[in-house]
Amino acid sequence: MKITEVTAEKYDLTLKEPFRIALGTITRANNVLVRIFSDEVVGIGEASPTYKITGDNQEGSLSFVKEIAPLLLDTEANVQIVDEILSPFVNMNAAKAAINIAIYDLIGKEASKPLFKLLGGYRKEIETDLTIGVLPPDEVRKRAEKAISEGFEILKIKVEGSVERDWARVEALGDLGVRLRIDANQGFSPKDAVRFIRRLDNFKIELIEQPVPFWDIDGLRYVKENSNIPVFADESVHLARDALKLIKEKCVDGINIKLMKCGGLSEAIRIVSIAEVAGIPCMIGCMLESRVSLTAAAHLALAFRNIRYVDLDSHLFLKDDPVVGGMRIERGRVTLPDAPGLGISEVKGAATVKGKAKKKGEGETEGESEGESERGYG
Ligand code: MG
Repeated sequence: MKITEVTAEKYDLTLKEPFRIALGTITRANNVLVRIFSDEVVGIGEASPTYKITGDNQEGSLSFVKEIAPLLLDTEANVQIVDEILSPFVNMNAAKAAINIAIYDLIGKEASKPLFKLLGGYRKEIETDLTIGVLPPDEVRKRAEKAISEGFEILKIKVEGSVERDWARVEALGDLGVRLRIDANQGFSPKDAVRFIRRLDNFKIELIEQPVPFWDIDGLRYVKENSNIPVFADESVHLARDALKLIKEKCVDGINIKLMKCGGLSEAIRIVSIAEVAGIPCMIGCMLESRVSLTAAAHLALAFRNIRYVDLDSHLFLKDDPVVGGMRIERGRVTLPDAPGLGISEVKGAATVKGKAKKKGEGETEGESEGESERGYG
């Protein structure tokens, strides 16, 4: 199955309301939608570049796909081969993730099987948390009560890196009986992180994510050694080699994988595997993604035993959900359709291209094209 065409387009998503974390406030997601065609099928992938975490943006991601597309044409739609083509290029991991996800989608469609079954099919559903941004304690409480009424049993609370104010946020949820995860997004100094964690003794805290700046590996180890709550790395681990280093240096109790940080499912599988060998559990999280790449992450979560924590909720923060098919959350549980590949049939408002793709130098596409927009790349 050869690649016959690669397309990329802007995929702008508006949030229902501004989302604040320790790194800043976000109001919209400027993502990129990638489609990769073979003679038979079309695979889809999404890049959600996040300057402050992955160092890339929409324009850069579009240019990268445009640059790479000629190298992909007429090659096998095989993840190892495509990974090899992408590997010399530094960074651009969100764009690489979109390409990688699209190839996996193609492979699943060609095999007529849901991707998670091809990858191992360990489970049929898994529980996700719901994230609450940095808000005043009474608002955190209100959001938590609403989430619980919708069936969520795990909440991820974003904190800002202030021992007192963050303590008040957690305390506001004290009697609700839900499981809590805390994400500091690098906000604390190592000493403040430990002071904060020591005040959480009476709460059901599953883990604390990235308490200290991403570069402060010694600080991360210090927090881990002085914490009775598992310390997970997020921004400190992008690639498998970061995971290997942090595990070898005994800095983490767990790793939060994101497809946008690591460049897609292939590298995510390497992180899951390294961590599993070391007895370290993984979490799968997301940037501000629609249900295109969230669905890819959900396939990974259902396929692999060592993904024990799931945070795949970003579509719930978007004004519109243009994706038809794909992952669903019901009463806090993530499920996938019994459909080939990712199981996504359409992305509304984006260029929906159906039917057989055009090979380079050939005449008209045999199938139909609908809502044609920028299809020019490749
Ligand atoms: Mg995080």
